[in-house]
Amino acid sequence: MGETADLVVVGAGPAGLAAAVTTLAGGLNVALVDSGTAVGGQYWRHPPDHARSAISTADLHHGLRVYRALRRALSTARARGRLDLRLAHHVWSVTRDDDGFTVYAVDRRRAPEETAVALRAPRLLVATGAYDRQLPFPGWDLPGVLTVGGLQALLKGGGVAAGRRVALGGTGPFLLPVAAGLASRGVEVVAVCEAAGPSAWLRRPGPLLRNPAKWAEGARYGLTLARHGVRLYPRTAIVAADGTDRVSSVRIASLAPDGSPRPGTERRVEVDAVGVGWGFTPQLDLLVPLGCQLTDSGDGNAVVAVDTGQRTTVPGLYAAGEVCGVGGARLSLAEGRLAAGSVLADHGAAPVPGRRRLAAARATVAGQRAFARAMARAHPIPPGWAKWLTDDTVLCRCEEVTAGAVRAARADCGASDHRQVKQLTRAGMGWCQGRTCGPAVHCLVAPHRPYAPTERLVATPVTLGVLADLDDAGENTRRSST
Ligand SMILES: Cc1cc2nc3c(=O)[nH]c(=O)nc-3n(C[C@H](O)[C@H](O)[C@H](O)COP(=O)(O)OP(=O)(O)OC[C@H]3O[C@@H](n4cnc5c(N)ncnc54)[C@H](O)[C@@H]3O)c2cc1C
Repeated sequence: MGETADLVVVGAGPAGLAAAVTTLAGGLNVALVDSGTAVGGQYWRHPPDHARSAISTADLHHGLRVYRALRRALSTARARGRLDLRLAHHVWSVTRDDDGFTVYAVDRRRAPEETAVALRAPRLLVATGAYDRQLPFPGWDLPGVLTVGGLQALLKGGGVAAGRRVALGGTGPFLLPVAAGLASRGVEVVAVCEAAGPSAWLRRPGPLLRNPAKWAEGARYGLTLARHGVRLYPRTAIVAADGTDRVSSVRIASLAPDGSPRPGTERRVEVDAVGVGWGFTPQLDLLVPLGCQLTDSGDGNAVVAVDTGQRTTVPGLYAAGEVCGVGGARLSLAEGRLAAGSVLADHGAAPVPGRRRLAAARATVAGQRAFARAMARAHPIPPGWAKWLTDDTVLCRCEEVTAGAVRAARADCGASDHRQVKQLTRAGMGWCQGRTCGPAVHCLVAPHRPYAPTERLVATPVTLGVLADLDDAGENTRRSST
């Protein structure tokens, strides 16, 4: 298994792209790995290259000029043999030794065929982003109930609207682009239920006023929604979904100040699809087993602790983007550039970007992190959310563990975090390994502590065949990069 690059970057979203392009500009050889079929991550999610001419999604995007410039830089570096781009490669484990890191991935370009790949480098940059945080409710496991991110991924990644009459719920500004995107594609968005009230931002308007780009973006979404007659209901939540084979209606209720549904306010709305999201959970699967120190991000999540140059507490390991805290694409881009600056400095390579651009990136990071903290304060998980759970609401869908079983684990056995609940009830032991239910179980039993995922040695399900192939992985690596 030879060393294949000076740096492996895992994740080709805004953070990973900015880091890869900057380190390439500094003269390093880089391997950029992503489980998706196109670069861009969640923010610039695109259809796979072979389908792009047939599916137009440009109207759903922002900042495409930056995205195109990053792609051009990648193409140039690839043509010069300096970039090893690995799309449809899912990294399932990383190990560290004295010489650096071995990154184990499964190559799914010819799925269902899977091939083991191992990449080595003295330095590793993890930019694996985040995913939708879910709070279960009765009926959330019906077909047609998706995450808001899932609805958007279908739209941006395939030009597909998941329904004709859709309700959205949860909290946070992300509800707005999804509602606007669906409405502009002809979907009837019957309600956008935002659990927070507008006064949350008005009480502390500073971070919003200092970020005119954010309120301008919000205003654009507001105009689109107004044009399509989409109504936004503040202090309201989707508290149940009903249907037989799939969702046919949702129940919507006004929320009391503690976030519990106000009695007598519940009403039924007919839909054929639902999208729900309660902010995001950083994807720390690869970082936790490497022993990185974590820190509280203030939005209910633990995130990886980094210094001002995005170095983690593990030598040679850097992190950028939403694994360091959820705060939007602009923050991720700036953190990617800062991380790249540190990689180049630690490698003894040309200082790209120069001092001025690094200072500008640091200022952006400071401003965007302040905005992210304000966003977390304005859009918290409502403390009374668990009141809409019935005892038979399923929390862990893989192992079919109910809210009643989790409550009993807490009340009868004293379970005080999701790990103990897992040992007592099997919640989090199934196929998704707690990625979906972990944050929800945590919010139920330990709402005042930040959620950190359990250490998992395998970050994505892999076949026994891939494990058996590991000895050949070095050979596969050389074959597929030629
Ligand atoms: C579903 C979803 C939709 C979003 N849409 C918007 C939006 O429309 N507008 C907005 O402002 N913000 C949006 N966000 C927030 C958005 O994630 C960020 O602002 C921005 O994309 C973060 O950039 P990033 O580089 O940190 O991570 P991401 O963009 O999430 O990129 C991370 C990349 O890492 C890859 N990855 C993760 N794990 C592995 C692994 N084990 N192996 C290989 N590759 C891996 C992923 O495939 C992904 O491409 C969205 C977030 C989510 C979760």
